[in-house]
Amino acid sequence: MTSVHRISVEGGPSFDCADGENLVAAAERAGWALPASCRAGICGTCEGAVCGGSFVAPGRNDDGAVLAGPSDGVKLCRARPRSDLTIAPREIKAVEPGSLKPLAAKVLRIDKPADDVAVIKLRFPAGTRAKFRAGQYLRVLLDDGQERNFSMANPPHSNDGVELHVRYLQGGRFAEAVFNHLKPGDVVNLRLPQGDFWLRESDKPIVFVAGGTGFAPVQSIVEDLLRRQIHRPVRLYFGGRTPQRLYRDALARQWAEKRPGLVYVPVVSSPTPEDGWTGRTGRLPEAVIADLPTLAGHEVYACGSPAMVAAAREAFVGHGLAPSDFHCDAFAPSMQVAA
Ligand SMILES: Cc1cc2nc3c(=O)[nH]c(=O)nc-3n(C[C@H](O)[C@H](O)[C@H](O)COP(=O)(O)OP(=O)(O)OC[C@H]3O[C@@H](n4cnc5c(N)ncnc54)[C@H](O)[C@@H]3O)c2cc1C
Repeated sequence: MTSVHRISVEGGPSFDCADGENLVAAAERAGWALPASCRAGICGTCEGAVCGGSFVAPGRNDDGAVLAGPSDGVKLCRARPRSDLTIAPREIKAVEPGSLKPLAAKVLRIDKPADDVAVIKLRFPAGTRAKFRAGQYLRVLLDDGQERNFSMANPPHSNDGVELHVRYLQGGRFAEAVFNHLKPGDVVNLRLPQGDFWLRESDKPIVFVAGGTGFAPVQSIVEDLLRRQIHRPVRLYFGGRTPQRLYRDALARQWAEKRPGLVYVPVVSSPTPEDGWTGRTGRLPEAVIADLPTLAGHEVYACGSPAMVAAAREAFVGHGLAPSDFHCDAFAPSMQVAA
């Protein structure tokens, strides 16, 4: 029989969590939002303290050993209680009511700017506008109740629908539908907004690092930043395996032309001689480090594959970045995203 444990938030509410359930999901079920983004134990957004009680935390103790509080830097999206717990997350707030209610959106158009990327524009029913922050993501609800995470690429001021950038994955339930069957007029059910990948208020220079479809939330944030006339210095690194994979290269070049202080650096990891690529090559984190003597005093927003995000965090913190100035969404496969 599954045991249910009482989780008390220091100075805050309490909620129930079953043995096999993670703390972020249990809080959400009870109507409370803990900071969380990838929900796969990669991005670190959910890190908090367990002040007392015992728990397991895959990723920290893969052997399944039971840990006991007090313990700092626990990824609460992976932590599962083994007793009643007291926790101290970075913050806790009521779940945004909109994020619980499915929204039926209609496909307006689907474009394929690269062989492995589809840009899908969805429109909400007439008069419906979604409230979200630039950089957040949504959940696509599949027919059998499974969910898939995709970042919104449009800025919050164009909120009568959403734009998603979907990477092709062979056998991917949603990706195969987008590339093969979905057509204008079809309905897709969504829940939004989700996640904590959004621009913090500060004067620090910003470094965006976007790998592949990791460009989607960065597009939303940059378009929002341009509209709000935020004048912070910006460096945008966009990486892909080949030049063709830099599917928003033209848009990023336009931003750099029209916005003083925005530097765009495209980086290609594996160009072939036929590509005729004369720009930067290599991996994204190394390109950033080669350009900046230190990342102290900067804020980094990194988005893309879990491997790239993990490598960027390690390299940047080693290059002077304060860990609290590293913000990310790691595009973990939905299967790995904790239930
Ligand atoms: C916060 C967040 C935001 C995201 N935003 C985006 C986005 O804007 N655009 C985007 O393209 N993706 C994004 N992702 C990743 C996306 O949610 C997953 O890749 C998802 O599993 C794709 O769903 P699918 O139905 O197409 O494939 P699935 O049916 O989930 O997967 C099919 C197969 O592909 C494998 N697979 C799935 N994802 C990956 C991956 N990322 N790398 C390697 N193998 C994988 C699975 O293990 C499985 O074997 C995001 C993920 C997170 C956590």
